[in-house]
Amino acid sequence: MTALRDQLVARIVRSGPITLADYMADCLLHPQHGYYTTGDPLGAGGDFTTAPEISQMFGELLGLSLAQCWLDQGAPAPFCLAELGPGRGTLMADMLRATRAVPGFHDAMRLVLVEASPPLRAAQARALDGYAPHWVEGVTDLPDLPLFLIANEFLDALPVRQFQRADDHWRERMVGQQDGTLTLGLSGPTRPAALDHRLEDTRPGDIVELAPAASAIAAELGQRLATRGGTALFVDYGDWRSLGDTLQALRHHAPADPLAEPGQADLTAHVDFEQVARAATPAAHSLLTPQGVLLERLGITTRARTLAASLDGRALEDHVAAHRRLTHPQEMGTLFKALALYSPDHRPPPGLEPAAVS
Ligand code: SAH
Repeated sequence: MTALRDQLVARIVRSGPITLADYMADCLLHPQHGYYTTGDPLGAGGDFTTAPEISQMFGELLGLSLAQCWLDQGAPAPFCLAELGPGRGTLMADMLRATRAVPGFHDAMRLVLVEASPPLRAAQARALDGYAPHWVEGVTDLPDLPLFLIANEFLDALPVRQFQRADDHWRERMVGQQDGTLTLGLSGPTRPAALDHRLEDTRPGDIVELAPAASAIAAELGQRLATRGGTALFVDYGDWRSLGDTLQALRHHAPADPLAEPGQADLTAHVDFEQVARAATPAAHSLLTPQGVLLERLGITTRARTLAASLDGRALEDHVAAHRRLTHPQEMGTLFKALALYSPDHRPPPGLEPAAVS
């Protein structure tokens, strides 16, 4: 059951404590024991659910929004339509159904999915039967084309490092072991350059997070968007600047101890969208916008009414609840936020405003 814990303990005994990012990477993506590599965590029988699994409206509205960006940028052909971490393929299936009527969009697209999980790749193949998707390992493998990209709840699955502030320096939170049990400890003093600006807005004892993998992906996308054109839309939970320990483990829809059962629970951290936007320079970025606000601006209420007209009974109740869940400030409406990265020659997607150039 705990083969991964035994491996981690052996590794720590051999070569010392590991960063939280290394720990998270093994828990999520270890080839034999990783959380994503071994199963399908989405849905009622899994550990969590996501916006596209709650309602088709999410994918429809965001699909049309990306298609509008494509039109606004001169309808380049061919172009790459990409998704990072497509889960069961539901979001992309809804996007493609909604954009069928956009002239030329499907003919010009090359559909590419970045997915690490073999079982989820199989689910995506089923959901996208007929659209000929192509899978790649990472964003560096995307084709060299104008890029229109979506990623929902992808960045939160990428590993983070955590640093605790001392006076004018930091100590990194490291995973060690004691008698075969995984424990959290602190490294010696360190001063990563990426945290220099955080000495301004933190106090001794505060914890901040760095997401090196998210920053590397944003940097690669930023280069592509600036040179080839296109738009990338990220939706996730998080804030403009992270403060505090946001690492969380979820198992069967309930919180769990992140160190207790490596590989058995979903591990995520809140997204620090400022790090993503900074890393993506020279691409432009939008203002960070609450999911509820974005969906309202894209017309979710009108779409919800249209769908409601053909529903009754339990199906109608579920539909009304799903609309509320996606948009209400006390549900997903405020916690989840959207950030677009886009070619600096163009405008942000519908519903999002450009950030002031600093
Ligand atoms: N976007 C989907 C699924 C979110 S779960 C939805 O909204 O329902 C996170 C997804 O990202 C899963 O598909 C997972 O397998 C994938 N993933 C996580 N880390 C990844 C990585 N480093 N590279 C590629 N895919 C990854």
